[in-house]
Amino acid sequence: MVRFVWVLALLAVVAPASAAPLVLVERGQARATLVVGTDPSEQAQGAAQELQSYLQRITGAQLPIAARPGSGANVLIGQAAARDAAARLGLPLPTGQTYLFNDEGYVIASDGETLILAGNETEPYEGTYFAVYDFLHSLGCRWYFPGEFGEVVPRRATVTVPALRRTVRPDMRVRDTWYSGHLATTAQQQEEFRIWKRRNRMSRTALWLHCADPNARFLQNPVDDSTYRLLPKEKYWETHPEFYSLNPGGTRNERFLCMANPGALQAAADTVAEYFRDNPNHHTFAFSPPDAPVLCHCPACTEAMHGGYGGEGEGEVSDAYFGFVFRLADEVARRCPNRWVASMAYYNRCRPPEGVEGKRKNLLIQLASIQQCALHSYTDPRCASRQEFGAMFRRWAELSAGQVFYEYAPHDWTHLQRPTWRSQGIAEDYRLMKKLGGWGYSNEGQMAWLSTGLNYYVRARIAWNVDEDPAAMIRDFCRRFFGPAATPMHRYYTTVEQALRDAPVHFSSPAADEFFTALPRPLLDRCAAWLEQAGRLATAEPYRSRVAAFQIHFDRFNALEKARAAMARGDYAAAARFGEAMLETVARVGNSALLQDAGPWGGSLTGAAVTAFAKRVQPWTDGTKGRLIAALPAEALFRADPASRGVVGRWYLPDANTKGWRSIRLTADWITQGVSGPDGALYRGLGWYRVPLELPQGVSGRVRLFFPEVKGSDVWVWCNGVFAGHTRNTGSALMTVDLEGRLRPGRNLIALRVQGSGGRSPALCVRGEGGISLPPFLFVPLDEGEFPDKRTELSVLPAQWLFRTDPEGKGEALGWARPDLSADGWRQIPVPAVWEETWVGAYDADAWYRVRFTIPAEARGKRLVLRFGAVDEQAWVYLNGELIGEHTEQSTGETVHQIWDRPFEVPLTNARFGEENVLAVRVRDSVGAGGIWKPVRLYQLP
Ligand SMILES: [Zn+2]
Ligand SMILES: [Zn+2]
Repeated sequence: MVRFVWVLALLAVVAPASAAPLVLVERGQARATLVVGTDPSEQAQGAAQELQSYLQRITGAQLPIAARPGSGANVLIGQAAARDAAARLGLPLPTGQTYLFNDEGYVIASDGETLILAGNETEPYEGTYFAVYDFLHSLGCRWYFPGEFGEVVPRRATVTVPALRRTVRPDMRVRDTWYSGHLATTAQQQEEFRIWKRRNRMSRTALWLHCADPNARFLQNPVDDSTYRLLPKEKYWETHPEFYSLNPGGTRNERFLCMANPGALQAAADTVAEYFRDNPNHHTFAFSPPDAPVLCHCPACTEAMHGGYGGEGEGEVSDAYFGFVFRLADEVARRCPNRWVASMAYYNRCRPPEGVEGKRKNLLIQLASIQQCALHSYTDPRCASRQEFGAMFRRWAELSAGQVFYEYAPHDWTHLQRPTWRSQGIAEDYRLMKKLGGWGYSNEGQMAWLSTGLNYYVRARIAWNVDEDPAAMIRDFCRRFFGPAATPMHRYYTTVEQALRDAPVHFSSPAADEFFTALPRPLLDRCAAWLEQAGRLATAEPYRSRVAAFQIHFDRFNALEKARAAMARGDYAAAARFGEAMLETVARVGNSALLQDAGPWGGSLTGAAVTAFAKRVQPWTDGTKGRLIAALPAEALFRADPASRGVVGRWYLPDANTKGWRSIRLTADWITQGVSGPDGALYRGLGWYRVPLELPQGVSGRVRLFFPEVKGSDVWVWCNGVFAGHTRNTGSALMTVDLEGRLRPGRNLIALRVQGSGGRSPALCVRGEGGISLPPFLFVPLDEGEFPDKRTELSVLPAQWLFRTDPEGKGEALGWARPDLSADGWRQIPVPAVWEETWVGAYDADAWYRVRFTIPAEARGKRLVLRFGAVDEQAWVYLNGELIGEHTEQSTGETVHQIWDRPFEVPLTNARFGEENVLAVRVRDSVGAGGIWKPVRLYQLP
């Protein structure tokens, strides 16, 4: 059995105390030579230049770089200059590169006359650079964030080096964080990040290149959708279609393979063996399935799934997929010794496979923790999510030779840009990783350095030495980075980190209600006071700018909390102003790598999105479309109803027995407030709220209840013991229920029954949610035609329309909207339908729809509206030859990516009553599906 030799984590041997300290610079005068040897490597020259440059910035003195030692003290930099001297000291320089990748490291040693700074320079290692940066770190240089902003260079006139002898090796072989491919980064930002990574001793990109990159000769990153590499299409597609995965419709998928076909396994093994034969200096063959769980639906693969096709996120994909991977690894082990097979245990297959035993010594697993709680550590007994992942990691460590963590750092789909600071948690996680033999991390990073704080820095250091004290790192950071403001900034930083660590909630990418449950208002107020104190103390540069940057970051999420608090009061005008304040903070740092207002996927908690949300609700409160009467109180009674007994038990009656009910906030979902199922799992069933409401005299008429934000699928409403209505959460339509005639002056009782929603497993899937997360409010609408329960649908539109493509965009000029146009050249098409799924097939340009229908004569004088569920992408609507409305980039001010699935309405002007009308719709599609793909309905408004 191979045992990894991985014990020389940090080997420090102190030389005899008698040795005199080495003097490099004395009172601003150079006293030493930087020696690179007569035939120096590029790395040694680069490292020497870095040392020269930083020593000059520290002392003002420039040390010469020379090929040979000078008369005074000498610094031997790199293999060529230091190899013999290091051997004489009994500290041989790390060198070479084996398939175990455990040969990285460097030596820092001084005997009073020479200082050795040299390490393994064999590709892909940068040991000599690391020795220099480690030495500069010991002098007080720090690179906390990329670029000038994050750099700390101390000033001093004299630099001496005590006697020391150290060989330094990393605890983690893979140390990588990369900017997510979804980020809009500039070349300069990428370059600053690359330099920052080297200065913090992280791995070169070359170590962990994309597996399809022809230069990926070391470890390979098993990137999504690379399984096709195993079965080259030109070789097997024609002759062996059965090697490829079977789609449900009977066709085959060239991007994925049949996991059960023995021929496919042999062909894949042949591919890997040929790859290693043709690339003898390559170490790894990596591959991963496509991002979405594309699978083989043949009987054998179906059987191997163990019933798991429907269980996306529950991990049954693992059994079929990794069953194949393990068989392939065994075959490759027989044919190609000392070579690696690598694949990814992604979110839908992070669970280790069942039915497999024994450690595969040639298998590397990239382990994705994408749906995990990102607040807590794997050893935190209060966090079920992290414990579940820790259990999976332990099992993977039994089954595979190496594991590389794939974390989102941070996971922030909402783009809240909240602080994610967790130095203690990182240290705990990586100590577990080392204990189980993990190989390190390859994280998807964000360009949001104020939000990530010191995480990247701490992670880079901990990966070299898991025993380094993270609390000391934070203290050191505050002292060096904030100078006179160190004390209040340290309070701020550690208070936030501790609050997140102690948070009773668990999230990966938090919604606002979750985040502010972890960091509530009183704590934010304390933070604001410390920042203000720091601002008063940091009057000189660079400290002033550094404190100011952290202040701006705080101001942004502080404004978000104030926006949410305003929404809770029903004051959406104030909420919109706080949303704009969020945008303004980002403008103050210039939307840079430090802080941005746009995430990779947009995000619901950008300043722009918060402002837009508040402005969508505001017209229903400020008299534009409606007038606010009262917001419901922010606290109510709550009871879970897992067996659906509430309706029969009449939990909605004003005098119902409330024994067993608990107090709950209407400003955060119930999971956030600790509501759990019988086995401690997150509760996503039915829940009831009883909300008392005092009303003054004179509230009458067309009062409605508005639900600005519901975490769940449906809400049923009772008012003073009587059922008032139901509203569904579609994500786009307004959620309101009519309370006309049901309220009375004085005390009222509103009962709400909410259906939660979300995935099934807390750790393996979307974590689910339930409840009311912003208090509903009462309002009086100006026009009731907006509400579905006040409308009458006129069922006059047929299911088949006429259709014609218009690739040159001539339809308008040719009068294709005209009522008297002939049907020649037009064909029938179903509506709703995506046209690419009809006879039309792949087509991206203009196309026209036409349909004839009769509006009843009785509708004359009524207001009619045509509602389109969605048109992909842009639509122009004509009635009887006249343009009556459009839903386009121009009319909405939004992009086709935003409007393609959005409902829209067109008032039916120009209608003929009691006779035939001709509706024509010009649709423009630029990419993908296309067409009128959701129902079109005609409504009569009240
Ligand atoms: Zn199959
Ligand atoms: Zn947690």
